[in-house]
Amino acid sequence: MNSIPDLVSGGLVHPQVALGPMTTYKIGGNAEYFARVDTRTELDEVLAAATGENLGVTMIGRGSNLLVATRGVSGIVVRLAGTFSEVEVRTDSVHAGAGAALPVLARTATRVGQRGLEFFVGVPGTVGGAVLMNAGCHGTETRDVLRSALVLDLDSGVAVERTPAELKLSYRHSNLRPSDVVLSAVFETTNGDVADGERLMREVTAWRRDHQPGGTHNAGSVFKNPPGDSAGRLIDSIGLKGFRIGGAAVSTRHANFIEASEEATPEDVYAVIEAVRTRVAREIGIELVREVVCLGFEDDA
Ligand SMILES: Cc1cc2nc3c(=O)[nH]c(=O)nc-3n(C[C@H](O)[C@H](O)[C@H](O)COP(=O)(O)OP(=O)(O)OC[C@H]3O[C@@H](n4cnc5c(N)ncnc54)[C@H](O)[C@@H]3O)c2cc1C
Repeated sequence: MNSIPDLVSGGLVHPQVALGPMTTYKIGGNAEYFARVDTRTELDEVLAAATGENLGVTMIGRGSNLLVATRGVSGIVVRLAGTFSEVEVRTDSVHAGAGAALPVLARTATRVGQRGLEFFVGVPGTVGGAVLMNAGCHGTETRDVLRSALVLDLDSGVAVERTPAELKLSYRHSNLRPSDVVLSAVFETTNGDVADGERLMREVTAWRRDHQPGGTHNAGSVFKNPPGDSAGRLIDSIGLKGFRIGGAAVSTRHANFIEASEEATPEDVYAVIEAVRTRVAREIGIELVREVVCLGFEDDA
């Protein structure tokens, strides 16, 4: 078995790699170690070395739901690429690696008349992130289209196919633990009209252009919607649109988005998140629950 220093020498693992550029916030500190793995063999090598050296493993996808603290992330951060990004369309299903980009998944299926995955065109993450978060939009969630996901348990080293019911997918939630790695997923599709599918994807994209802040650094919705309400509506109702700390501010376009300027630090964004949560609890009596995953902060969640 190779050690982490062996894998560093071999170029598979890199020490002290900036994570900011790998997230949509574009800010954040370093990974103690980082590996981009293209094959299952590479992944297994990295995981074995990490286990051998008692290093924590953190998976990242496209970093579209992530805020990384300035102090960075200890252990090894792993990103799935190469063969993990492949998408294969069959007659009633689409098989995708966990590193596949959701908009690519949507377009690849739609282009050949496999319908049902169009909504993913609006979610800028990966299949792995979508399974973990039960990502969704425009009335459809991952659990509605997922047949199964292949999940590797880092503790046992065993990979098992799990259905949406077994993953307990619910609104922006799964029962996956930090020691679970999504390797791939199979999605249900139906045969349908290519033009209809493409029209739907254009509608999804247009809606997002009209309703969400474009061209800014953010991670989409920061909080989950509380039952029967919308986090954005609540935040807006107490006048927090535009509320700013340092270089981070609540979007004036969509109050559940927090935007980071070029000068923003991750701690600015985090401070805005905490301030908004506190104000909503105090003034409306509703405890907002964070959707964005924060890495390297005091109360890492
Ligand atoms: C502009 C914008 C719009 C958005 N709109 C939506 C939306 O409409 N609906 C929605 O649901 N989300 C939305 N999001 C949030 C985000 O795109 C989703 O949560 C997405 O599923 C995250 O995927 P990711 O690959 O970027 O995950 P990351 O942000 O990289 O990681 C998120 C979490 O997933 C874990 N993870 C990633 N890959 C794996 C893996 N292979 N195995 C195990 N764990 C893994 C990470 O450890 C982390 O805990 C939006 C984000 C942006 C920036």
